[in-house]
Amino acid sequence: MRIDVVTIFPDYLAPLELSLIGRAAAAGPLQLQIHDLRAWTKDPHRTVDDSPVGGGAGMVMKPDVWGRALDDVLASGPSDPSPGTGECSGREPGGVVDGTTHPGARTVLAIPTPSGIPLTQRTVEDLATADHLVIACGRYEGIDARVAEHYGDRVETLEFSLGDYVLNGGEVAALALVEAVVRLLPGVVGNPESLEEESHGAAGLLEYPVYTRPVEWRGLAVPEVLLGGHHARIARWRRDRALERTAARRPDLLQSLGAEQVVRGDREVLNRLGWGLGPAGVARMRVRRGIPDDAARLAPLAAATFPLAAPPGLDEEALAAFIAENLSVERFEDYLADGARYVVMVGEVEGSGELAGYTLSVLPLSVGEPPYAADVEAIVQERPTAELSKIYVRPEFHSSGLARMLMAQTLAALAEARVEGEPLAVVWLGTNARNRRAQKFYARCGYERRGGRRFWVGGREMSDAVWARPPLESAPPAMAD
Ligand code: SAM
Repeated sequence: MRIDVVTIFPDYLAPLELSLIGRAAAAGPLQLQIHDLRAWTKDPHRTVDDSPVGGGAGMVMKPDVWGRALDDVLASGPSDPSPGTGECSGREPGGVVDGTTHPGARTVLAIPTPSGIPLTQRTVEDLATADHLVIACGRYEGIDARVAEHYGDRVETLEFSLGDYVLNGGEVAALALVEAVVRLLPGVVGNPESLEEESHGAAGLLEYPVYTRPVEWRGLAVPEVLLGGHHARIARWRRDRALERTAARRPDLLQSLGAEQVVRGDREVLNRLGWGLGPAGVARMRVRRGIPDDAARLAPLAAATFPLAAPPGLDEEALAAFIAENLSVERFEDYLADGARYVVMVGEVEGSGELAGYTLSVLPLSVGEPPYAADVEAIVQERPTAELSKIYVRPEFHSSGLARMLMAQTLAALAEARVEGEPLAVVWLGTNARNRRAQKFYARCGYERRGGRRFWVGGREMSDAVWARPPLESAPPAMAD
């Protein structure tokens, strides 16, 4: 790869002679040339700037000087072994610069500017495949806008920004770009594996924290797991820290993680951090108490999800009757208005505006109030007791972790509840005995199977497994549901 940097401060780029980049330029895959823009001036004062047309503060870099410089440098092409550095001043402007001058070669003109698109690792990876990179460093108020416009029509041009702040000149941005691109060229970084797990790599996450010896320094120890030599455990620990760090520092990166980038074991930590894997990739999920305004969105959610886990054999009519009686907007308005009797929790996905799941729990009004069904009363004997009557999640969020978040938050809310001043002793639920997925879920949420109950719906006898647990012995363990 050939890189040309044009600047009014060539000495500013001297650090490129050092370290890996210096080595790559001396004997490796890089031809690096730094040019003094003033070599293309034609007046005795070697003027590169003029006052802004239309008025205003500062000076603007002249398009005619930049035009001569860039024509020359771009025309020199990717494989010109003796590009005109000092000698450029004597050269006439190069010929046509239209991308056809060097057929088959990819040339990119990169112009640093705070108004450019933010430079990312993806862009850097892309630029590392170019044959010829020309970087035009601005100073003062920047380069006359016609320069980018003119070359933009003739050669691949990238106006890029190093970040949302303003530097005095483009040299620092050029240094950063060269370093980021050149380290990706084959043979530049000694151990290419070290590029694989880095921040902004294919994983889409920030890198985990790294440590070296001594294992104890100023009272701070290297995390134990890293000393154990257990590769799988170390990998999991690192992945968890990368997810945590990304969630805390760059939630935007987490938000753009696709489902294919989420690996086994990620969901637990994502859920703990308030994120889940929705149908459109990783998304921030929130569980909160229902408010009266939710009724209109809760009823359709409940009506859509209830049939998915309804007891087998329940006919359509009975189902519709149940929904009309128990899951209408009016019923949800009642549930949401009566905080002494009901606890409603809703799960939503940030940005979607949709409710993705909910729970409905029924509290006793007195300490001694037994579960309404006699067979449950016999097997769940602690008091006061509440029933977790509904926990439903839209099917597209079934593997997202939202159900577990809903369960955790519901148990936390029930732990706060008081019945005649007393905390709840137990929460019970009934679930179709043949729904193995549900049984597994409740077991993992710390519920214990107490027995069964029988009940009648639409003239049919149904059987449920009854599970119970204290509301807040400990939060349910992190798990994938
Ligand atoms: N007037 C310009 C503006 O507000 O957009 C700022 C000009 S700045 C003082 C001078 C030069 O520094 C720019 O032409 C560019 O080369 C460089 N520069 C400043 N901030 C930069 C950034 N965040 N990224 C890339 N280059 C930057």
